[in-house]
Amino acid sequence: MDIKKALIGIFGKENVRDEPAELYVYSADASVHQSLPNIIVRPETVEQIQKVMEYANNELIPVVARGAGSGMSGHVVPIDGGIVLDMKGMNHILEIRCEDMYCRVESGVVDDDLNRALKPYGMVYPPSPASSRIATIGGEIGNNASGIRSVKYGATRDYVLGMKAVLANGDVVNLGAKTRVEAAGYQIHRLIVGSEGTLAIIVEATMKFIPLPKFRCLGMAIFEKLEDAGDTIADIIGSGSEPSMLELMDDIAIKAVNTASKLGLPEVEAILLFEADGKVKEAVDYEMQGMKAIFEKHNGKVTDMSYDAKERTKIYAGRKKLFPSLSRYKEGFACTSLADDMAVPYSKMAECARKIHEIAKKNGVIMTAYGHCGSGVMHTKILMDPTRKEQWEAAKRAVEEVYDYVDSVGGITSGEHGIALSKAPSWKKARKDLLPVMSKIKRALDPNNILNPHKLMDAPDDWLTATPLRYKVKV
Ligand SMILES: Cc1cc2nc3c(=O)[nH]c(=O)nc-3n(C[C@H](O)[C@H](O)[C@H](O)COP(=O)(O)OP(=O)(O)OC[C@H]3O[C@@H](n4cnc5c(N)ncnc54)[C@H](O)[C@@H]3O)c2cc1C
Repeated sequence: MDIKKALIGIFGKENVRDEPAELYVYSADASVHQSLPNIIVRPETVEQIQKVMEYANNELIPVVARGAGSGMSGHVVPIDGGIVLDMKGMNHILEIRCEDMYCRVESGVVDDDLNRALKPYGMVYPPSPASSRIATIGGEIGNNASGIRSVKYGATRDYVLGMKAVLANGDVVNLGAKTRVEAAGYQIHRLIVGSEGTLAIIVEATMKFIPLPKFRCLGMAIFEKLEDAGDTIADIIGSGSEPSMLELMDDIAIKAVNTASKLGLPEVEAILLFEADGKVKEAVDYEMQGMKAIFEKHNGKVTDMSYDAKERTKIYAGRKKLFPSLSRYKEGFACTSLADDMAVPYSKMAECARKIHEIAKKNGVIMTAYGHCGSGVMHTKILMDPTRKEQWEAAKRAVEEVYDYVDSVGGITSGEHGIALSKAPSWKKARKDLLPVMSKIKRALDPNNILNPHKLMDAPDDWLTATPLRYKVKV
């Protein structure tokens, strides 16, 4: 049967799209990749997802679950075309149970909407990524997202109690539990966390939440030498301090923010933002003073510190404006997410940042180093002219060199954003031992390979040619 006709039978005409402009919008995410789907559907019920999976499995049509499409490595780029499931139609918060400290949500619920709903109860869902304004809970589970407060509160995986999912053949399964503990066989819901849409479609999630901290204090410290900032990070974590945020910005990040957003940040080699939060003000003070002493020990200067919400917004403004500022770093340059979220041991943070600068210089591209250093995550972006073929080749060399370094110091390819296409070659090189196991799990759950095919261990070995690029490259 004609695919469009079959899908209209399941979803109704209004929820099936194949206009060229719509296909174009759904061909990309926040990565460098692009590939058109054949058709887009917007499910509203579990039954519709069951039916579309049964149909696609019988007809061997690829299916890509898409939340907000804010993934940075090509997660929802439909490399083989097929059907995109736009999960944003399933956006209901089904239950908030403060007495049991969990909520049940459909997977298309946006993170900030969940937190807006929890706030009147004095609760918060804390592992939110910086993209929480648009990111969906399904996408956060798919990528095991984490964020600025993960240093204290952990990643998405730490909040998923259970889920309802539709398997590749259309079967519906209830995984995990609603209780805090569960010792009943394979923890399959945990396997789905970070599976990037390759194992099942999550339709509903049961998530823990926590009470909102009563007090929150944010500070800024500046360092003339990057190495001093690096030593501070390791010392803070090693001393048993409990920051709720510890963020690094290098000189390129500072310059980008000052150029694009005119914030007048101090032009030093490194800025650290540090925060503590909690129920008791004295305990927060204790953490902040403890961290301040460590900054001073390592030649850092604390320039600001405040409990006041407005002041905190000002202190955080530079970090908040960083990503858009990087896109405006230089006329004609693009900010590409390649080798963008490795994690390294705390003691290697400064060395890693220096190495990134060195590799960028050697290869003729610009790379910044910043990120959630409290969780060991080092973000980089490659700033380059995306119309020039040789810049892409330089970026490719730089990516390889960065990951070789990360591997050599015991780091990992992705601490936050996941693997998908852009990071697959380096991840596959670093985790050779894991790939056969992962392939067996994939085959067991999706024998016809229809769920987000050619991602993770099945992704092409060269990210540069894996799909057409989202940019027009002059030949
Ligand atoms: C400006 C910016 C800042 C960011 N900051 C952070 C950050 O601080 N931390 C961080 O971790 N990430 C960050 N990201 C990356 C990204 O936003 C997160 O990983 C986010 O969780 C993705 O959510 P999404 O709804 O956009 O998912 P998508 O990109 O749509 O999907 C992500 C993956 O999940 C799968 N998926 C989506 N829905 C389902 C479902 N219902 N069932 C099964 N699989 C599904 C998809 O197939 C895909 O593989 C950032 C991105 C941007 C653009």
